[in-house]
This record gives sequence, C-alpha cells and structure tokens, in this order.
Amino acid sequence: MARVLVVGASVGGSIAARTLRAQGIDTILLERDLNYIKPCGGAVPPLAFSEYNLPDELIDRKVTIAVVASPHRTTEFPVASSRPTDHEFIAMVRREKFDRYIRQQAVDAGAELIEGKFTSMRVHTQGAQVTYEDKRQNAHTVEVDAVIGADGAYSSVAKSLGLERLPMAVAYQERIHLPPHAMAYWEKRAALYLGDDVSPDLYAWVFPKYDHVTAGIGAGAGKTQHARALLQNLKDKLRDQLGEGTSIRFEAHHLPMVPRKYLSYDRVALIGDAAGLVQATSGEGIYWAMKSAEMAARAIAGSIEHPVQAALRRDYDAQWWKRYRTTYTFLQMLQRFSYNSDIQREIFARMCEDPDVQRLTFDSYLAKHIEPAPWSVQIKITGHWLSTAAHELLSSRFGAPKRQAATASR
Ligand SMILES: Cc1cc2nc3c(=O)[nH]c(=O)nc-3n(C[C@H](O)[C@H](O)[C@H](O)COP(=O)(O)OP(=O)(O)OC[C@H]3O[C@@H](n4cnc5c(N)ncnc54)[C@H](O)[C@@H]3O)c2cc1C
Repeated sequence: MARVLVVGASVGGSIAARTLRAQGIDTILLERDLNYIKPCGGAVPPLAFSEYNLPDELIDRKVTIAVVASPHRTTEFPVASSRPTDHEFIAMVRREKFDRYIRQQAVDAGAELIEGKFTSMRVHTQGAQVTYEDKRQNAHTVEVDAVIGADGAYSSVAKSLGLERLPMAVAYQERIHLPPHAMAYWEKRAALYLGDDVSPDLYAWVFPKYDHVTAGIGAGAGKTQHARALLQNLKDKLRDQLGEGTSIRFEAHHLPMVPRKYLSYDRVALIGDAAGLVQATSGEGIYWAMKSAEMAARAIAGSIEHPVQAALRRDYDAQWWKRYRTTYTFLQMLQRFSYNSDIQREIFARMCEDPDVQRLTFDSYLAKHIEPAPWSVQIKITGHWLSTAAHELLSSRFGAPKRQAATASR
C-alpha cells in the first residue's frame, strides 16, 4: 500500500494526515513531542472552521471589534465584510486544545501517530527512506512513497533537502490571567499596536482567550534581542488594561517572513511554516498551514504512483500560487508601506477609520480572497490615502498631531 509520512503533527501536519487518509493513503504522522504547545496568538478566521468542519467548542472568544493603535491615535472598528454573514468575527483559540483536536481527527481517520524526531531522509527513485529517533533516542528507519514536511519554521525536512533557512522574525508573547472585570474589556476586542517602542518593524498585539489574554510583540531581523524590552514597553503602555493581571507563561518562536521559491521536490512537499507560508503583514499562519497541507496532500495522493517534482509542482505549487499570489503580494506590500516609520503607522491607523478600508480588510481576512474593489471605491480610497499622507507629512514637519481616538460604530 502507498505510504506517506508527515513530519510534524501540529495544525498543518494533522490536516495533511487527515486529507491523505480521506484519499485512502496509508499515513504515518510523526511528532517529536506530543505535549508540545506551539507559541501562538491563536487568531483564526472562521473559514477554517467551516472548511475543515471544526466545532465551535474550540473557540475561546469571538472577537467582533478590531483596535489599531499607532503612536498618536487609536481606531476601533467592527469586524465586518462587504457581504455580512454569520461569520463576522475572528475566532480566538488556544493551540493546546485546537491542535490536539485536529491531531485526534487524523488518528481517528486511521493515521498512525508516532512520537519521534525526524533526523534524516534519503530520496531515491523508488521512494524515500526516513530516519527518526524515538524518545529513548533509538533510531528507526521507514520506507515511504512520499514525505510532507510540516515541521515548522526550523524545518529539518527542508534542511535535509539542502534548502537554506528562511529570513525570520521572532514573536514573543506572555499569557496574562486577568480577573473577570478586567477581562470584560477584552472579551470582544483584539488589538494591534504600532510603534518603535513596541515593535520597530511589525506590530504588537493583545488577543483574548477564555480567562486570559496573550500580549505579544513581533521583532524582525536584527531586533530580536530587544524582544523582552519591547514586550515590557507594551505592558507599561497598557497598564490600565493589563495591570491587574498575573503572568501565566512566556512563549517565543520564529516566524518565516518569506515563502520558499518552491514548495515541492521529488517525493517531498513542504507546507505551512516549513514552506514559509506565513503572511508577513499579520504573522497569520494557521489557516495557511491548513490550506497548504490540504492542497499538498491532495497533490501527493493524485500522483502517488510517481510523486516526482514536476507532478507536485504542477498540482501543488502552481495551484497554490494561482490562487494566492495576489494575496501574498498585496500583504507584503502593505507591510512594507505601513509599519516601518511613525508617518507610515499614522497613515495606516487613519486609513483604518475609513469604512471602505475596514470592509476590504475583512473581505480579504474572512474570505481569504482579494477581489478588486469597484472603481468608485478605489478612487475614494486613493483620494483618502493621498490627503492622509499629505496631512501626516505636514504634521511631522510642522508639529506632531494630537493623540486621537475613533471608536467602533457597531
Ligand atoms: C508568538 C506567535 C504568535 C502567532 N500568532 C498567530 C495567530 O494569532 N494567528 C495565526 O494564524 N498564526 C499565528 N502565528 C503563526 C502560527 O503559529 C504558525 O504559522 C502555524 O503554527 C504554522 O503551523 P505549521 O503546522 O506549519 O507548523 P507548527 O505549528 O510550527 O508545527 C510544527 C510541528 O512540527 C513538529 N516538529 C518540528 N521538528 C520536528 C522533527 N524534527 N520531527 C518531528 N516533528 C517535528 C513540532 O513539534 C510541531 O508540532 C503565530 C506564531 C507565533 C510564534
């Protein structure tokens, strides 16, 4: 029987194993530590729940108000797209619960779950020979038809293909338990903070969970040694909202900032963080790991007799980029033009006050599809952007603008 080995049993790997089993493929799911909890803010679009048939019980909070704070202004706006549905929220999950559920689904579908660490791989004309170490450091070798590398940012599968490490940012967060009255403020809110003091090139955030929040910061290359200080600055800034909290846990991990040039090789496909498929603007990677896992698994199942590079690049890489290239290009551009200086941050926060921009943001986040806005809207947004940019440039030259707040209309 054809066999595929999936390395990494987090969100991506478990969806890959589940999909392979649904295609009748004998599947091994290899995870180096079954108790591992992936450091993560846990913001997931509801689409992930409907597409992958996941229950609402996995959701701690449904966020319906987005907060964007630049150094001089705070904007609050509703999570709402152009075509309102019942799914106008950001789902907040805890990875320890979310990942475990999907992993169990893969096992229930018949995947063989092994706790062991992938160490090396040799691809040959008939298959791939994979070696892993169990918890007692005994080496085991298995022969399979193909391998899916779902082993995250530091992917050993990518390394064994001779691929270089991708440019990375670091994300560092603290889980803070809050008493109910302090938690009430965060119940429906997720907040992003922009500024050199909290995140010089990305953003900082506060996301709610069932009885705690995660407060975190992103730091790009060259800034990672300042991660602790940046997080402390964020907490100092939010003393009124977080001051009564107790720290539960600190977590940090790298995030790839650029997708790999190729996702597939002879008998091997990389998905999720191993393939660099995180969105650089937002650090969002959960949905993208799940989606790439599904597409890679289908491509491998479809060419299981000969899962060679050409077949996988045709059925996985090409399909992926056909569907999502515009999204990645647009969001990379947005990051370059939004976070890197205070003027850019002020323009970004002010643009977030524009209802058209708000709707476009959530159209793309909730539907995972960027559709060009009607011309009239594009012209309106361009005009707004030009006047905002002019205002911010003049203010920065002739005096800083006053701190302002705009609130959600919902
Ligand atoms: C602090 C932080 C906050 C984030 N917040 C969000 C957010 O709010 N929303 C969002 O969408 N994304 C967020 N992300 C990104 C998101 O966590 C990742 O994009 C997502 O987890 C990628 O899933 P994955 O399955 O590709 O890899 P991972 O979740 O990284 O899983 C890789 C798995 O492979 C296993 N593994 C690694 N090496 C081996 C080996 N040699 N052998 C066997 N197993 C191995 C690991 O133990 C792990 O289980 C955040 C990331 C960080 C660091």
